[in-house]
Amino acid sequence: MNAGGICYLVGAGPGDPMLITRRGLRCLREADIVFHDRLANAELLRETKTGCEHVSVGKTPGNPGIGQEEICRLLIESTRSGKKVVRLKGGDPFLFGRGGEEAVALAQAGLRFEIVPGITAGIAASAYAGIPLTHRGIAGAVTFVTGHESEDADTPNVDWRALGALGHSLCIYMGMANLDIIRHELIAGGRSPGTPVAVIQNASLPAQSCVVATLETLFEAVSETGMRAPAIILVGEIAGLRESCSWFEKRPLFGKRVLLLRTENQSRDIAEALEEAGAAVVTCPAIRIEPVPFEIPENATFDSQRKPCAEIQPADYDPLSRALICLAREAKPGWIVFTSANGVEQTWLRLRQLGLDARAFAGPRLAAIGPKTAEALTRYGLVPDLIAEKPSSADLLEAFRSMNTAKTPIKHVVLFRSSLADTILPDGLRENGYTVDDIVAYRTCFPEKPDSRLQEWLERWRLDAILFFSGSAVEGFRIMAGDALDSALFPPLTLRFVAIGLSAQQALMQADLPCDITVPIPHFPDILRGLRDALRVTE
Ligand code: SAH
Repeated sequence: MNAGGICYLVGAGPGDPMLITRRGLRCLREADIVFHDRLANAELLRETKTGCEHVSVGKTPGNPGIGQEEICRLLIESTRSGKKVVRLKGGDPFLFGRGGEEAVALAQAGLRFEIVPGITAGIAASAYAGIPLTHRGIAGAVTFVTGHESEDADTPNVDWRALGALGHSLCIYMGMANLDIIRHELIAGGRSPGTPVAVIQNASLPAQSCVVATLETLFEAVSETGMRAPAIILVGEIAGLRESCSWFEKRPLFGKRVLLLRTENQSRDIAEALEEAGAAVVTCPAIRIEPVPFEIPENATFDSQRKPCAEIQPADYDPLSRALICLAREAKPGWIVFTSANGVEQTWLRLRQLGLDARAFAGPRLAAIGPKTAEALTRYGLVPDLIAEKPSSADLLEAFRSMNTAKTPIKHVVLFRSSLADTILPDGLRENGYTVDDIVAYRTCFPEKPDSRLQEWLERWRLDAILFFSGSAVEGFRIMAGDALDSALFPPLTLRFVAIGLSAQQALMQADLPCDITVPIPHFPDILRGLRDALRVTE
């Protein structure tokens, strides 16, 4: 036996991946292998390190899974081989989670294990539906109980009549299949038919739904809505408190499905903010950013400061490198302009590949189109002198026009832009008497073929809104959507197209696609307001 092996039985929480404990997350990040259930959110698996093995051992409807004995055997085998094993279970491992059986098996095998508790579904359902399990003057006790009759003769079945006689709160797991029997038995035990009951499906998830009825009307109310497992049934006067305590469904974008056409990295802040507002967010980049070819002369040498040696002519390099070397060698223009955060990042990357650093930008004034570009520059210690608030060339041109030119006498501008950038900016600058070097800092590439994930979202998942962050994202989206574009545009059109920035708006119009709302500046409060307007969500 390898002494290093250990198995963590980790509670993943009820569904929302944010509801795992910090300790649970740490175990996941360090794991060599994770055995996971269906109810543990698959998002969490993305926290594991590269090379970590993921093994699904959960039951799915119609598929009984591999069986508890086999799971225990796998846990023992992996732990014995010296691995850091995580057994990731929905909710809490020790509440209707069979974690006890796994712990006993590991203990009997003489292996190390630890238990990491999780937020159980009943507690989450209570919080997310706004139904306190205990409440002064209403309920002083709560029973957690399974509604699933045991097939195992040694496990006594629940005495529902006895529970009906007690009159306190009940938190029922796995009760949907026996709903009718349970309510009859509770009433037969003495519980009033008018007792409030709430059923909460998918607690804590964007798909959460909740029905409140009474023991008498429960079965019919649930059948009408088509609610299914996984659901928690909360019985007792406490269910009546939902009217005043509910909050989750009141978040402004609750239940809305939003697609961001960007990489996950670029989307993180806005995705989190939209999720906080209640939306279910998916991301998918509509374009790819690629560096321009790096052509470095064979005999290139660098001096002690890692600057390219002077003997090599800048002309021997690719145009981007050439422009940067010229800047570093004090052929200083009056202005350097960045038009996107991608432009800043790709230019910086090339600068570093050349052994140069921020000093290359010393001297000239710096301008940025849009707040995101300005933020990107600031991350590299470069604070722009001029920022066009709206991410549009016209805005920057206007700013240049209204500038006091006495302070900036050198009328030479270097632009670092995308391969797809239009000529509005250089043309406008030239009209204003500037000499312009228009440098391609990165290539914007479109997807080659339709994307099945995006098609599935359009056809089956019923998206509510798509956010386009650039003009090129519109073209990328059209390619990825392929035939599914028709179903997205199928009347009555419920899908909303949201343009972030004027170039996205123009591209949508040119592509004959709807543009329901344009948010001129990509500030989060404006995007949220725009989305609310587009989706007609009132505060
Ligand atoms: N160990 C888990 C329970 C597993 S039993 C825990 O502590 O939560 C499976 C049952 O949990 C389901 O039938 C359902 O009753 C409940 N459940 C799990 N996730 C749920 C969710 N997100 N919403 C409502 N009920 C859920």
